[in-house]
Amino acid sequence: MKYAVLSDIHGNLEALSAVMERLNAERIDRYLCLGDVVGYGADPAACLERLEACGAVTVGGNHDVACVGKLGLDWFHDTARAALEWTREQLSFAELDGLRRLPLTATEGPLTLVHGTLTHPERFEYLVDFAQAVEMLERCRTLMCLLGHTHVPLFIEYDRPQRRIVRVLTVAEELRDVAVQGDPATRRYLVNPGSVGQPRDGDPRASVAIIDTDQRRVAVERVPYDVAAAQRKIRQAGLPAFLADRLAIGR
Ligand code: ZN
Repeated sequence: MKYAVLSDIHGNLEALSAVMERLNAERIDRYLCLGDVVGYGADPAACLERLEACGAVTVGGNHDVACVGKLGLDWFHDTARAALEWTREQLSFAELDGLRRLPLTATEGPLTLVHGTLTHPERFEYLVDFAQAVEMLERCRTLMCLLGHTHVPLFIEYDRPQRRIVRVLTVAEELRDVAVQGDPATRRYLVNPGSVGQPRDGDPRASVAIIDTDQRRVAVERVPYDVAAAQRKIRQAGLPAFLADRLAIGR
């Protein structure tokens, strides 16, 4: 099976369209989305529609669930809160209902999906240290756990019997083609595909992962898109200017 893994689209239709076009060149069997489809960007409804059109299995991110009141707006800083209030106004009842129904975790074959951490999906914690990663990998019941939320790509390989992390990849060149060679009986993997719509690793290009479970490979790809058009829409919508500015620098 070949999976496309998208995360943190954040209403950026220009980025999502470019990624989808790139994925059309592959034979993708299943589209997966790790949450934060909306919030920050100017096209929340269109992004939800694109995901639905490809039958993506989607879990809820903090922005998605906050849109429907399942997470308080006081959880967010001012810019995000302003964007969320704007986003709510853009969505129909049906679209909001779709967000309300998103599960916080999902399993798809050998893959477990979550936005923040598997330990406390409802808290939307950021994965920032190895102790959290180990806790998550111990909890994971499938070969791989896929997560988003930090907007930074990451690959971790874990040896279960030895309870230790044996490989950590964060560099773009290394993440472009990762062989998953370990014995599935003893290994667990953690993969963050980075962010489609608001990358924060200094590379403004959209980020997406392709996981091929037959070839046993993970590839994090960067896709250029029309950043200026996405910025223009954010400014025209009256959303905080910072949300447009940051897209150009990928921070
Ligand atoms: Zn996000």
